[in-house]
Amino acid sequence: STVTTSVDEILTNLQKQCATPLPVLRHVADSMANDMRAGLAFDGGSDLKMILSYVDSLPTGNEKGLFYALDLGGTNFRVMRVQLGGIDQRVIATEAEQVSIPQELMFGTSEELFDFIASGLAKFAEKESGKYHLLEGTKRELGFTFSFPVKQTSIDSGILMKWTKGFAVSGTPGKDVVACLNEAMKRLGLDMQVSALVNDAVGTLAGAKYWDNDVMVAVILGTGTNACYVERMDAIPKQPTQTAHSGTTIINTEWGAFSTGLPLTEFDKQMDAESINPGEQIFEKTISGMYLGEIVRRVILRMAEAGSLFGNSIPEKLQTPFSIGTPHICAMQQDTSNSLDTVGSILFNEAGVESKTGARQIVMEVCDTISKRGGRLAGAGIVGILQKMEEDTKGLIFGKRTVVAMDGGLYENYPQYKNYLHNSVTEILGQKLSENIVIEHSKDGSGIGAALLAAANSKYK
Ligand code: ADP
Repeated sequence: STVTTSVDEILTNLQKQCATPLPVLRHVADSMANDMRAGLAFDGGSDLKMILSYVDSLPTGNEKGLFYALDLGGTNFRVMRVQLGGIDQRVIATEAEQVSIPQELMFGTSEELFDFIASGLAKFAEKESGKYHLLEGTKRELGFTFSFPVKQTSIDSGILMKWTKGFAVSGTPGKDVVACLNEAMKRLGLDMQVSALVNDAVGTLAGAKYWDNDVMVAVILGTGTNACYVERMDAIPKQPTQTAHSGTTIINTEWGAFSTGLPLTEFDKQMDAESINPGEQIFEKTISGMYLGEIVRRVILRMAEAGSLFGNSIPEKLQTPFSIGTPHICAMQQDTSNSLDTVGSILFNEAGVESKTGARQIVMEVCDTISKRGGRLAGAGIVGILQKMEEDTKGLIFGKRTVVAMDGGLYENYPQYKNYLHNSVTEILGQKLSENIVIEHSKDGSGIGAALLAAANSKYK
């Protein structure tokens, strides 16, 4: 019938436009490498900001003593303490706590927000047991993971460019967030100071490298996405004066802003046009957790409107942006029953539609198409980073073991996505080269990573 033809046509077109055959993957990987180079040449040279982390001492394993970490990246903040025992004992003890930020503080003043955070930290510090002790002659130091756009000016300072993720705190943009936190701790009489300001991808890399020195790249795939890697100082033309003891630093790529050569559909373009940041974060909008479910919703809404996928009704829920989340499309893809009961109940609960088995099968295909494209493109991005590193330093990556540390709820929880990502890397590099590339989950490396960076950049060293 004409009805099924129409749905089939939409699906066939979608699959064609989302296809990521090897030449497309190669082109994305090559473009990533080129755009990285352009971003390192000068500020504004590329979609990729290639931000200097000012990390010139990576954790070695020799770090000793008590260090704190604070992670502020969303509606919660996490505090942590860790007792480091050096090369043999490594992490002797850790403790962590999570505090949620009251809604009103997200719209308040900078002092109110930082006073709240400092008081959470102070309460946590009061509960320090006998297991934890400072090295003689030192004070409490903190690694501060701050996942908002900052213009970093040194390892322990950075200017907030703007709040994102629903924060609208007055007075912070244009200020040094480390100074804001240090001043709040001082107001409270908390004897602690920030030694390292860290982006969460950078924290993940540092945390993973502490356990495994072959870690060279870290990738976050959660609500958003980002990647960072170990770079040679002399391969950063835009910062010729920076000196590092080690000759290497970490570059935060901000790869979510990448956009070259991506296979995009009308659904992506409409979602982007209606987003709060049109034209920005295109790679993020194609591969990260915030958007995959929404792309699927847009496709099946079109199938419902143009092809009566669910009969004649188009429920309001199906028309509501972000009513279907990435965890929902993930759960649908786990359904192995003949009648796809889970798919049916998710469609009913989240989108308000009644569905027959045939329609559920189509929805499954849509979910697979979108997660496959996302995972494969993320894999191509990783290969692009590895390629860039290898081109600059022959033999650095290929022909020996190299680890890519992964973190984030999308990578962690979406098995199909993760498989597509891994297969894409193997496909681009070939069996032989990819045998040496280890892509592995680094569970909550970023918290400990920030504490380790505080230790590696201690003011008492
Ligand atoms: P964030 O990136 O917000 O700091 P996480 O790394 O925990 O935090 O990632 C959360 C994101 O991971 C969610 O927004 C969602 O997109 C994705 N996610 C969480 N659970 C699942 C799941 N079961 N299946 C697929 N994606 C998931």
